[in-house]
Amino acid sequence: MTRRVLSVASECVPLLKTGGLADVVGALPKALADHDWQMRVMMPAYPGLIERLATDPEILWTDADLFGGTANILGGKVDGIDVVLLNAPHLYDRPGGPYSGPQGDYWDNAERFAALSWAAAAICKAGLGDGWKPDILHAHDWQGGFAPAYVRYMKAPVKTVITVHNIAFQGHADPAKLAALRLPPEEFRADALEYYGALSSLKAGLVAADAITTVSPTYANELMRPEFGMGLQGVIAARAATVSGILNGVDTEVWSPSKDPEVAPYSAAKMAGKAKNRAALIKEFGLGEVPGPLAIVVSRLTAQKGIDLIPGALDEFLGRGGGLIVLGSGEAALEGAVAQAARGRPDRIGVMIGYDEALSHRMFGGGDAVLVPSRFEPCGLTQMYGLAYGTVPLVAATGGLADTVIDANPAAVSAGVATGLTFHPTDGLAFGQAMRRLCALYEDRKTWSKIQRNGMKQNLDWSQSSARYAALYESLLDA
Ligand code: ADP
Repeated sequence: MTRRVLSVASECVPLLKTGGLADVVGALPKALADHDWQMRVMMPAYPGLIERLATDPEILWTDADLFGGTANILGGKVDGIDVVLLNAPHLYDRPGGPYSGPQGDYWDNAERFAALSWAAAAICKAGLGDGWKPDILHAHDWQGGFAPAYVRYMKAPVKTVITVHNIAFQGHADPAKLAALRLPPEEFRADALEYYGALSSLKAGLVAADAITTVSPTYANELMRPEFGMGLQGVIAARAATVSGILNGVDTEVWSPSKDPEVAPYSAAKMAGKAKNRAALIKEFGLGEVPGPLAIVVSRLTAQKGIDLIPGALDEFLGRGGGLIVLGSGEAALEGAVAQAARGRPDRIGVMIGYDEALSHRMFGGGDAVLVPSRFEPCGLTQMYGLAYGTVPLVAATGGLADTVIDANPAAVSAGVATGLTFHPTDGLAFGQAMRRLCALYEDRKTWSKIQRNGMKQNLDWSQSSARYAALYESLLDA
């Protein structure tokens, strides 16, 4: 019998994406269908999204006053995904991004995402207008954090899961908003909604949900430690028995070098196309000859991602023949630092500040190695794209990076299982050493090519992870 799950999130590919969260939310419905779970994705109707539905939108729920204005829920399909859009113009119809506009974060983000969570819980209680009612509510990150709590307050008959994609974002809000957010005042306690004198929607979800997941086994362990838990380590550790880490998969329809329209096709058995892509990428960025490894970075340019470590390693890396191409945007100082490096060595370093999905594909197709020196990384996707494209990942041994890349140490190389390079801790010394190892490995053509192929043979699709989500949902219903 098909069972039903309502996924509540602020982003979903293909409708809106600012990070890996959107990839996961968009991939799960298709992957879970194989396990007899029907997932509907609920997200805000940001400007322009209703028009993107492939079917005529159907009104499935209405509310005359949802946090200060009228709202309805419109159901439809996009790319085969069942979506329900919360259409509340007073909350979501504004120019700018999903969380902030030209003036910075929206003043009412707490209300905006509490409304999404509240409406999700109301659906869990009463169902949608077409008779659809979920068995499970699956909330994502702080934006969905209040949903498991509202489910409890409303006594809605569903089990709840919350997934932490990044603990750095916690949905802090002024406790004076408690009543406006329809939260019971007696819940403002240290073991419920209160967080260092404020409200935190993420904490609310972590306390209320029946199960907590995060996006890799290593990050699940790290989250219980002060170095990574960002203040919530105690809350998560107290619920350790309900915490699991389930790695994200990769959409192999989109990320596969044998069928990627942006690259000359290649595969582990036929690698010739990769050299063509490398030459084309070097040309696209106007670089000169790159005799050593051509490293790429596709990333938000933020301190989390360890981008600040890169400039310090460049002199030696370039001296050993390396080249670098960076695509990303983020903190002004980091954008400036990589741009300055490129100005100094335009023959070896290319930089594109911005967001460009198609270019990112060409970079994975043509790069030799992808650098991911993150300080923390819940799962990370680009190292997995690197594995799939024979673009050897060089990563910090943290979170999902540690779970997906096997370091080319002598034992792993002789056992024939290495897939990349890892380093620890995330500092300039260890990163510099890893870049040295990268150059040496690249010169050892036989080992290099074995490592590329090992990565390309990994099973990175959603099959294993979706089976784990399905098993988790089922265990909750059976409990
Ligand atoms: P995070 O969600 O923390 O930003 P992830 O590695 O989980 O990191 O996901 C980032 C996603 O965004 C990946 O799909 C990556 O390819 C993509 N991405 C990041 N920056 C850019 C960019 N400038 N252009 C194109 N894609 C990007």
